[in-house]
Amino acid sequence: MAKLDEPLHKVLGDKTAKVLAKGLDLHSVGDLLHHYPRRYAHRGELTPLNELADGEHVTVMAEVVKVQGRSLTRSPGYVLEITVTDGTGELKLSFFGRRGSYKPERELSPGTRGLFAGKISTYRPRSGRDQRQLSHPQYKVIAARAGEQAAQEWADEIIPIYPSTKGLDIETIGMSIGMVLDNLDLGSDPMPELTLKRHHYVGLKAAYEGIHRPKDWKELGRAKNRLKWDEAFVLQIALAQRRMAASALPAKARPAIEGGLLDAFDARLPFELTEGQQEVGREIAEDLSLEHPMHRLLQGDVGSGKTVVALRAMLQAVDGGGQAALLAPTEVLAQQHYRSISAMLGDLGQAGQIGGAETATRVALLTGSMGAKARKATLLDIASGAAGIVVGTHALLEEHVQFADLGLVVVDEQHRFGVEQRDALREKVAGGRPHVLVMTATPIPRTVAMTVFGDLETSVLGQLPAGRAQIQTHVVPPEKPAFLARTWERIREEASGGRQVYIVCPRIGEKEGDEGDARPVPPPDEDSAEGTERRSPLGIMEILPRLEELLSGVRIGVLHGKLHPDEKDAVMRRFNAGELDVLLATTVIEVGVDVPNATLMIIMDADRFGVSQLHQLRGRVGRGTLPGLCLLVTDAEAGGKARERLDAVASTTDGFRLSRLDLEQRREGDVLGAAQAGRASSLRLLTLQKDEDVILKARDEATLLVEADPDLAEHPALAAELAALLDEDRTDYLEKA
Ligand code: ADP
Ligand code: MG
Repeated sequence: MAKLDEPLHKVLGDKTAKVLAKGLDLHSVGDLLHHYPRRYAHRGELTPLNELADGEHVTVMAEVVKVQGRSLTRSPGYVLEITVTDGTGELKLSFFGRRGSYKPERELSPGTRGLFAGKISTYRPRSGRDQRQLSHPQYKVIAARAGEQAAQEWADEIIPIYPSTKGLDIETIGMSIGMVLDNLDLGSDPMPELTLKRHHYVGLKAAYEGIHRPKDWKELGRAKNRLKWDEAFVLQIALAQRRMAASALPAKARPAIEGGLLDAFDARLPFELTEGQQEVGREIAEDLSLEHPMHRLLQGDVGSGKTVVALRAMLQAVDGGGQAALLAPTEVLAQQHYRSISAMLGDLGQAGQIGGAETATRVALLTGSMGAKARKATLLDIASGAAGIVVGTHALLEEHVQFADLGLVVVDEQHRFGVEQRDALREKVAGGRPHVLVMTATPIPRTVAMTVFGDLETSVLGQLPAGRAQIQTHVVPPEKPAFLARTWERIREEASGGRQVYIVCPRIGEKEGDEGDARPVPPPDEDSAEGTERRSPLGIMEILPRLEELLSGVRIGVLHGKLHPDEKDAVMRRFNAGELDVLLATTVIEVGVDVPNATLMIIMDADRFGVSQLHQLRGRVGRGTLPGLCLLVTDAEAGGKARERLDAVASTTDGFRLSRLDLEQRREGDVLGAAQAGRASSLRLLTLQKDEDVILKARDEATLLVEADPDLAEHPALAAELAALLDEDRTDYLEKA
């Protein structure tokens, strides 16, 4: 009897084990059992052949319609050409061999059904249209209808189809899995019995049976439910353990103190904190007062006021004798934060300067582009502790940046940072850990928060500050050219009314093919998949001359990632100060840029951006009391996917709703991102799009279980499953997360 960790060669013999190891990286019984079918077919159902893409590795079920052998003219070879059909489309199979008793010729006669596996290629016969073919495919004849078996039963039988791989015989996987299943010894079920009962999950052995050789669709469904649960649960156990371990680490408590900087700041806030800001503020204040590090994710829609929340936390850390670092993903954003924090603090941030308040601290900015002299002075301020608040980019992570006493790290717009970077800052604290607050740029769906950020506690700012003006969003479509003309007029109107305008393009466009630094996130679908040539996306340098012509007298500034940082800063300053009416930019302004006087956002080629990105860009207007207007200019035709996406963005300003929509359109790998590759590979059946229920339940139960039994001492089988998940590179990943 074979256990999950049994090497495959012991069960299947050396030859097969070698093939499976080489072709599919499967080494143990467990590896093989987790190699699930890609899909399932009825025996009575043929694969739609018209949907096969060139270059794809496929396994199709089809019926032979024509068999034709011919000798090759030049070589001594013989080619057997077999045409198979799904009833509508056709696919050509070609086998090269010797005339005579050639096996495919004997086995594949018209009317035979079979599975055919190989790589789709396209060729063009001397006359006629392109044809798709499988060259020398693997095949397996699906047994002809047996006399005693009822026709319906025969047709209903489920045939699992495994991802096909080069060099692997089509029957190898199915046969190997069959052998393994017949000899499987799973020991006790890793899931607590109560859990299984509560959710009516089948046992693990039944689940493996059901996923690999289901007798009917119901059995398959039950198997999938159970295996999905295991994926969700084990992952959540790992995350719960990490949360627990992290919160057990020592950290310096920075409780709120009376009469400090935070109090002084609160007293002069020009607005009332929203209920959400107060509530989250209390959560954070509480976390900071503990002798264990805070690990909190702060989520809030664009404009919900995350910065104030973060700044208040930083002031509490400073009041507690520590320093706070704010890590921003771009120079533009770092500078923006530096400026707005300095402005918000006023004399509270001017320690040592004339006019600085008594309790004051100092705010420092550290970026990669600083001159050597300024940099040196700043590094000194950071090391001596004179700078209580340090704002910076990646430059903050460099080794020689030493803090006197780093108490709190705030990571802004987390999705742009890898997990390693969060860690690099944590390590700057000797003998303990800083408190960490992570802020996301846009709301993320709950399932993503619970997996990608699953080791963090989550706070949500659910409401926008009161009095916040509305943002109207309209699509400017190709079928209504008058709208575009109106768009340009609007710019002039805003400018002459003393308000400001952003115009965003997907590209810099200085020269042909230049993507710049600001390549937009490609939207998940492309309407032009049919090969119609799309023009390249608009670049700001391309439309600048036109704009200057159309809008003479309007002051236009240009901002993109290729500008020298000083230049970027200068442009941003002028726009901030109202010396520019229009800022023509790439997505460098996507996050964080905060100019309340800006009222109009025009996004050119809007269909080239993803939903979250559009939402984020739109959030640059309507930030003050003036209403915002966002115009999504597009060439995309009505009725297509791209237009649907734009209409969705126009229909709601609820970032949480849009983020769910965005998630539905993306593939799992895109959601988890490259850094999460390890985690993605452990999720075979579970999807963040569709399995919110399962993930939620798993998180709750995992948290309870880990609280009661942190080391899983009472759940050895579960501990073993967890260990399997955490092995190799995945540990590596989770360690870093
Ligand atoms: P985001 O969550 O997108 O980072 P910000 O923190 O930049 O949002 O806040 C957006 C704007 O709202 C800023 O100009 C900020 O000063 C202002 N703001 C924040 N909180 C409030 C509040 N409670 N009342 C009024 N305005 C606020
Ligand atoms: Mg922000």
